[in-house]
Amino acid sequence: MRRFVQINYGPWDRLDDDAPFVEGIGPRPPGARFYPPDMTREEFERADLPGKSSLYTLIRRDAAGALTVLPYHQAYRPELERIAAKLREAASVATDAGFRRYLELRAQALLDDDYRPSDMAWMDMKTSPIDVVIGPIESYQDALFGTKTAYEAFVLVKDVAWSERLARFAQHLPALQRGLPVPDAYKREMPGTDADLNAYFALYYGGDANAGAKTIAINLPNDETVQLEKGSRRLQLENTMRAKFDAILVPIARELIAEDQQAQITFDAFFDNVMFHEVAHGLGIKNTLDGKGTVREALTDLASGYEEGKADILGLYMIGALGRLGELDADKLPDHYVTFLAGLFRSVRFGASSAHGQANMVAFNFLREAGAFSRDAASGRYRVDVERMRAAVDALSAKILTLQGDGDYAGAKALRDSLGRIEPELAGDLARLEQRRIPVDIVLTQGRAQLGL
Ligand SMILES: [Zn+2]
Repeated sequence: MRRFVQINYGPWDRLDDDAPFVEGIGPRPPGARFYPPDMTREEFERADLPGKSSLYTLIRRDAAGALTVLPYHQAYRPELERIAAKLREAASVATDAGFRRYLELRAQALLDDDYRPSDMAWMDMKTSPIDVVIGPIESYQDALFGTKTAYEAFVLVKDVAWSERLARFAQHLPALQRGLPVPDAYKREMPGTDADLNAYFALYYGGDANAGAKTIAINLPNDETVQLEKGSRRLQLENTMRAKFDAILVPIARELIAEDQQAQITFDAFFDNVMFHEVAHGLGIKNTLDGKGTVREALTDLASGYEEGKADILGLYMIGALGRLGELDADKLPDHYVTFLAGLFRSVRFGASSAHGQANMVAFNFLREAGAFSRDAASGRYRVDVERMRAAVDALSAKILTLQGDGDYAGAKALRDSLGRIEPELAGDLARLEQRRIPVDIVLTQGRAQLGL
């Protein structure tokens, strides 16, 4: 139980809707410790307090019981001074000028809670092989208002070789856009070729980032002013993906993929699928053909599910197309298909209630109906048919791009309703994964433990 408390940074199971697992502890306070435990939403909304909705303040009670505001940089002063001193020490030995400037500004931000200058400097930093993401960043812990941020840190080393490959692939985006399997009207927008997308090895996760589930990607900054001026950066964490691949995806494949296709479950294919998913967000169409607005506005609550589903399937399309161009090893395409199918099992394991979960089910059922894979009734294992998969990837790509371009909400809803469900046969297969006790996430061995200290 002590170990599970350490993993969850508290007595509530983060992968089970915060269910308490320590006898008598009760439910998790929605406001965590950001607000007084007895404060109601109404009391907070009534209070006339400058800074109460800041991302970087705690709400406390004074001696008379009235609500007060306490800035993070005052509440955590001793710790923040130690961290700032360490960041400045790192800056003094940094050889990359952009990294040095970012570290200095970040140290200052921790001491005054003004993060914008350091976020700007982080976006300006393009060449450093080392990165440190640190500060109060995400607000998921505040289940009351979703505003208060929790401190976290990542220490990262860039995979320069992969990052250069990505930059090269990005140059093919205009040609890949022209090659999409849809009529010209659905591919008339030109994708940008300057996405700030890179691969990294994570050396350390701290605080919020290390509590419960481990992320495999970071997309920052959150400050929309910085986003408008400088864009945003996406960091894919390669060794964390590798750990999840080994501990979760491979055991799932051992259970559900045909024996003679096991060898096609490879980390390279898994990593490519994830990376090309990200690049594929840039393909397709952002505005509807009728000129009335964006796809997002037209598809409203279905928009993000379809956008994720599009990126999944166009990622596979890109891998095939780059193989034909000689940029990727075309012989490895079947690996990508088989590993993609195993990845679908991993994703739908947690149900089809989320937008992305439903998109995964639409893909699964669409590909199955197209004969891209089949299930052997005797063994309960699935086998990919490479030629049919190739055709089905084009067909599903065309289907999604057309729904998006037409801004066809009714059509999108009909497809989601007919294919977005987990059928009983698949539910039974997923239940086998539970019986085999295949893990749902990983924990990290790092810092002193990693060094055996
Ligand atoms: Zn995505």
